[in-house]
Amino acid sequence: MPLYPADAAFIQTLRSGLPERLFKPTEARYLEEPRGRYVGQSGVLVLPENTEQVAQVLRMANMAQVGVVPYGGGTGLVGGQIAPQGPAPVILSLERMTAIRAVYPTENVLVAEAGCILANVQAAAEAEDRLFPLSLAAEGSARIGGNLATNAGGVNVLRYGNARDLCLGLEAVLPDGAIWHGLSRLRKDNTGYDLRNLLIGSEGTLGVITAAALKLAPRPAHSGTALMVVPDPQSALALLGMARAHLAEGISAFELIHRQGLEFLREKLPDMRQPFADSPEWMVLIDVGLSRGHDPANALMYLFEQAQNAGLVLDGLIAHSEGQRSDFWALRERIPEANRLIGAVSSHDISLPLSAVPEFIRRGPEVIAKIGAFRINCFGHLGDGNMHYNVYPIPGRNSADHLEERDDIKRVVHDLVHEMQGSVSAEHGIGRLKVDDLERYANPVKLHAMRAIKAALDPNGIMNPGAVLR
Ligand SMILES: Cc1cc2nc3c(=O)[nH]c(=O)nc-3n(C[C@H](O)[C@H](O)[C@H](O)COP(=O)(O)OP(=O)(O)OC[C@H]3O[C@@H](n4cnc5c(N)ncnc54)[C@H](O)[C@@H]3O)c2cc1C
Repeated sequence: MPLYPADAAFIQTLRSGLPERLFKPTEARYLEEPRGRYVGQSGVLVLPENTEQVAQVLRMANMAQVGVVPYGGGTGLVGGQIAPQGPAPVILSLERMTAIRAVYPTENVLVAEAGCILANVQAAAEAEDRLFPLSLAAEGSARIGGNLATNAGGVNVLRYGNARDLCLGLEAVLPDGAIWHGLSRLRKDNTGYDLRNLLIGSEGTLGVITAAALKLAPRPAHSGTALMVVPDPQSALALLGMARAHLAEGISAFELIHRQGLEFLREKLPDMRQPFADSPEWMVLIDVGLSRGHDPANALMYLFEQAQNAGLVLDGLIAHSEGQRSDFWALRERIPEANRLIGAVSSHDISLPLSAVPEFIRRGPEVIAKIGAFRINCFGHLGDGNMHYNVYPIPGRNSADHLEERDDIKRVVHDLVHEMQGSVSAEHGIGRLKVDDLERYANPVKLHAMRAIKAALDPNGIMNPGAVLR
């Protein structure tokens, strides 16, 4: 089906059916994305205040065959929220739908509207002495609808799972404007196909999420953090196994950090306090959350001693105050900022079977060296096998000098990931950036089924055209 632009006549139709206050000029921020890779276009920006208004927009867009791009916090890293090509779409921002509709402490459930900023969902859970464990560096601006639409991961997946694992029910508007009232709070519900899990991770291509019933967890009574220097990634993996054997589900996060990231921090953010005078080649950041009666510092010290005896760690620091904890975490959380200031030639959000990670880290530089000389910053969520594997120019050169090699680098990295049974999109999604990769690496049966689902739910192809599927 052809799509048409949101032109003056269509905008007039929209305006006649909706309050004038839902419209405002499209500021530049709706057309940009964090890495500056795409510049979007907008026929009209609409900011609905409730689900019925979302439904009205979709109904009208579907009848007129005009594309709709759902917009959350705009922090997506694969261009899903930005439409640089095709007829100018409606940008539908959820930013005015920010209510916490209900909290059910005895059920450990919270119901939030899609435009609620992730940090505000966390705060609402904390106000009830509960934890909403989804946590990522963009949590101050990403919105829960966007988190669910991308099936976001972050630092706590090891213990609590990703956005999909933290969602019990959804309210959503389908492309024809039908409202699905699926805000179930049930932990068990085997009543046919799972529409919730289809919409989660669909990146706005099957409908608009307007609210979600989210799973909360008990807040750990005590939390602790340590940095441990390891000889190599294989030892880091063995340390993870030892940590889980000692502390089981008490391990909330297990992040791998490479020297390159620390060096980028020294270069671009020199005011940041660095824990070691000389940057170690590899270290891990371990976060634990324990129940009453358990001292995290003691538990981490015991782990450190056992690991040192086994030759798995060379050095370490255990945080003894909240200030130290946040300093350790700042180190990890600000690596992406330093990366951005250096300017990557190519960035990869990959996951691998855990046991394959060390071999991938060994082979990655070999395949990249065949293309040229680059610096590699490999860091991320080792606990769940998700690495951010980013390639940078050597000193004196910049990413613009390597535009011709960018695709070759991406290809060799993704080919290696695929060969090792990994995924070329671990937590950021497909968006527009990885449509080619999905076609290249996805199982053809899965791709066929995805296209059939898209055609069935969105026959006019209005939802986020150009994202995920061509
Ligand atoms: C510094 C930084 C750190 C990050 N760290 C992580 C990380 O650790 N883990 C991780 O997973 N991601 C991370 N991200 C990526 C990003 O924050 C996530 O993808 C996040 O979930 C996007 O949420 P958003 O509200 O900003 O969505 P947007 O960027 O606005 O949109 C993302 C996609 O979801 C769709 N969408 C948005 N809202 C809805 C809705 N209500 N209904 C249907 N579709 C919708 C959009 O159309 C688009 O396709 C990071 C980003 C930055 C900038």
